[in-house]
Amino acid sequence: MKKSANLMDRANQVIPGGVNSPVRAFKSVGGNPIFFASGNGAYMCDVDGKRYIDYVGSWGPLILGHNHTAVIAAIQTQLQKGLTFGAPSPLEVDMAELVTQLMPSIEMVRMVSSGTEATMSAIRLARGFTGKNKILKFDACYHGHNDSLLVKAGSGILTLGLASCVGVSATVAQETLVLPYNDLAAVQQVFAQYGDDIAAIIVEPIAANNNLILPQAGFLTGLRALCDKYNSVLIFDEVISGFRVALGGAQELYNIKADLTCLGKIIGGGLPVGAFGGRKDIMEMLAPIGPVYQAGTLSGNPIAMSAGIATLKQLHKPGVYQQLLQATQRVTQILKQGAEQNNIEIETNELSGLFGFSFKNDPNNKIFNQFFHLMLQHGVYLAPSAFEAGFVSLAHDADVLEETELAVKQCFAELQHTVRAISV
Ligand SMILES: *Cc1c(COP(=O)(O)O)cnc(C)c1O
Repeated sequence: MKKSANLMDRANQVIPGGVNSPVRAFKSVGGNPIFFASGNGAYMCDVDGKRYIDYVGSWGPLILGHNHTAVIAAIQTQLQKGLTFGAPSPLEVDMAELVTQLMPSIEMVRMVSSGTEATMSAIRLARGFTGKNKILKFDACYHGHNDSLLVKAGSGILTLGLASCVGVSATVAQETLVLPYNDLAAVQQVFAQYGDDIAAIIVEPIAANNNLILPQAGFLTGLRALCDKYNSVLIFDEVISGFRVALGGAQELYNIKADLTCLGKIIGGGLPVGAFGGRKDIMEMLAPIGPVYQAGTLSGNPIAMSAGIATLKQLHKPGVYQQLLQATQRVTQILKQGAEQNNIEIETNELSGLFGFSFKNDPNNKIFNQFFHLMLQHGVYLAPSAFEAGFVSLAHDADVLEETELAVKQCFAELQHTVRAISV
C-alpha cells in the first residue's frame, strides 16, 4: 500500500482528485485508491506487488482478460507499420465489415475514440435527421459525460431535465427529458405531450451503470413502437452490453432493432475506441455526404482497430458466451452462498459477463463498503462503488473462481460482525 499511497500524494498535487476518472478515487467506498502496475489474464498486480483477481476489467473492455496473446500480437504487428496516418487505412474497413456483420441493425458505422463521443455524435445525428430537438433518457442509465446527457429528472414526471452537473447550462438541460427506467407508461405520457419534438430515445438496453438492472418484458419493444409512431430515433447505448451479453449485443438477446447503436469498451480491446452506427438512411446524413458534421483526428486509429478486431475475432469462437455465462453464474452463486451461510441477505443479478449484487437493509452502503475493503484485503478487486456492475472475463477459469470462492467465504465470515453491529 505504501507505493500506492505515495503515488496518490503526488497525483493529488497535479491531477484533480488524483485521478483521471472520478470513480477511481474510491470516494464512495472510502480509503485510498490502488495503483496498478500490470495485468495478466484475470489478475492485476498493484505497484506494491500484491495480486488481485480483477472483477472490473477496466469497466468492460477486457472481456478476454488482461494481456491476451492474440490482442497483444495484433497490436505488435500493426506497431511495425506506423501509429496513425490521418488518412484511410485498411483495418477501418475490416472493422466496419465485422461490426455490420455482427449487429445486423448496423448497416453503416463510424469509428470514434470513446463511448462519450459515440453518444454525443449519435444524438447530433438524430437531431439532424429528424429536425427535432428533445432527447429522452432514463435516470438509471449512463451515456458518458456529454452536456446533454448529464441531466437528471426535474420535479414531476412531465417536467424537463435539470443539469445534474455544474457547468451544464440550463438551456441545454431543458432539451433532455428524464424518466425512470422500465417505466413505459411514463414514456407514453411524455410522448403524448412532447412527441412532435422528441428527436431520440437513448437507452442502455441493459442498465449496467446502476448496479445491474435488466429491462422488464415489453419495455424495449414499447420504446421501439413509440419511436416508430412518432418518427423518433431509437438509440441503443450498447457501450457495455455490445459484444458482452451476446456477440450481437442486447439487441440480439432481446431481438429488437435499434435505429442507431453506440459502441465502446470491448470494441477497442483495451485501447480508446468507440463507434456509432445504424440505419443507412440516417448514417448517410453524416459529413462528408450529409449535413451533420462529425470528425476525429485519431478516429479509426490502426493500432486501436487491430486490438478491437483481434478481440472480436476471439469472441467469434464457438462456446465463448456459454463459458462466460457459466463463469458469471458461478460468481453470483458464490456470493449468494457465502452471504446466506452467514445470514446476510443479498440480491444478485447476472447475464453473461455482467453481474450485480446488493445487500438488503444497506441504505448507506455500509455493508457493501466494508465487504469491498475485505475483498480487497483478500485479493479480489471489485468495482469501488455499490452502483457499478461487476465484469467477468473469459480468463476467469475454474481456478480463479475457486480462489474467489475462498476469499468470499472468508470475507462474509468477517463481515457478519459488521452486519450485526449495523442492524442493532
Ligand atoms: C462507459 C460508458 C459510456 C462512455 O464511454 P467512455 O469511453 O467512458 O466515454 C457510455 N455509455 C455507456 C453505457 C457506458 O457504460
